[in-house]
Amino acid sequence: DINLSDRVQRIKPSPTLAVTSKAAELRAQGKDIIGLGAGEPDFDTPDHIKQAAIEAINAGKTKYTAVDGTPGLKQAIVDKFKRENDLSYEPAQVLVSSGGKQSFFNMALALFNDGDEAIIPAPYWVSYPDMVKVAGGVPVILETTLETRFKITPEQLAAAITPKTRLFVINSPSNPSGMAYTKEELAALGEVLKQHPDIVVATDDMYEHILWTGQPFVNIVNACPDLYDRTVVMNGVSKAYSMTGWRIGYAAGPQKLIGAMKKVQSQSTSNPASISQAAAEAALAGDQQCVADMVKAFKERHDYVVEALNALPGVSCAPGDGTFYAFPDFSGAIAEMDDVSSCTELATKLLDTAGVALVPGSAFGAPGCMRLSFAVGLDTLKEAVRRIEKVLNK
Ligand code: PLP
Repeated sequence: DINLSDRVQRIKPSPTLAVTSKAAELRAQGKDIIGLGAGEPDFDTPDHIKQAAIEAINAGKTKYTAVDGTPGLKQAIVDKFKRENDLSYEPAQVLVSSGGKQSFFNMALALFNDGDEAIIPAPYWVSYPDMVKVAGGVPVILETTLETRFKITPEQLAAAITPKTRLFVINSPSNPSGMAYTKEELAALGEVLKQHPDIVVATDDMYEHILWTGQPFVNIVNACPDLYDRTVVMNGVSKAYSMTGWRIGYAAGPQKLIGAMKKVQSQSTSNPASISQAAAEAALAGDQQCVADMVKAFKERHDYVVEALNALPGVSCAPGDGTFYAFPDFSGAIAEMDDVSSCTELATKLLDTAGVALVPGSAFGAPGCMRLSFAVGLDTLKEAVRRIEKVLNK
């Protein structure tokens, strides 16, 4: 028998990818499945972005690039941070990776010694805790509920900090809750972090553009500029430009840490795909109307689905600030059901008997809730709600 490493045995496969692949399997068997599990926009990648990739192929841009990204893409990222986020970086402070996921993975490997702690508010993106663990770190989870719109308080953050805390992770707007922190809330968290100069902050701004609060997007460095020297800002083109398959994410921050992340990447994947980099450059430097069009569609679906979910017995859903996820609390409904006692069992039942794929909240550290991705057409969404209602009413 083969002995696997302790490292790999500490982690589990991504639960969201597991739901997506189970739904695809059932569909392949001819079952009528509505997939609301996936974390990707349903729109095609905009044409001008595809065109840039085709041109890159034809121009022979099909070779290795610099490990940390082409000069053109890195400049487009520097310009984007200046233009959209009022943040100044030198190109050496920027690392382009194969998706936002690799950006975080690089950072975890560059940061943690065994036993170092990372504070992660729940509900969290499923991959943070496992990436921390694979790097030898220990995730410290801060629980939240619908009552605080799934946001942590400064007191909670302060109470979780220990001498071993190396990292604080914040993702706003959040996958899966859809909630965004206000500038004031971020400033209050920043005040706590100011007392602890050794803690690195990672702000995952992946859903920055998919936001409808009416307020401009802000991250924790905007709210607390003192944190600039120890904050890694993470972002990517996957969600905003419907480019999940192209695999381009990026990080900007202190040169020492970014340099270490680059070293990790240089010994693993090297540069992200050259063609995808050309496409990402076109996305960041090009016309941004495509983003606004997608956000408009997401908002319309959000408004429909939040109202429809709240009309279901035992279900409570707070309106989100952005993203393409709703995160309803199903605990009332689960309590009423005879054959289901957890959100995981409910997810199985919805998939098996109603053909609707949702991800149970336990995957995100918030049992009792379900993540519903509304990256599908409105008609499909309506049919999904009808099916869920039938299961709950039985
Ligand atoms: N961060 C968050 C919060 C996400 O939801 C995702 C994708 O699901 C990512 C980062 C990573 O995106 P990708 O690796 O596809 O660029």
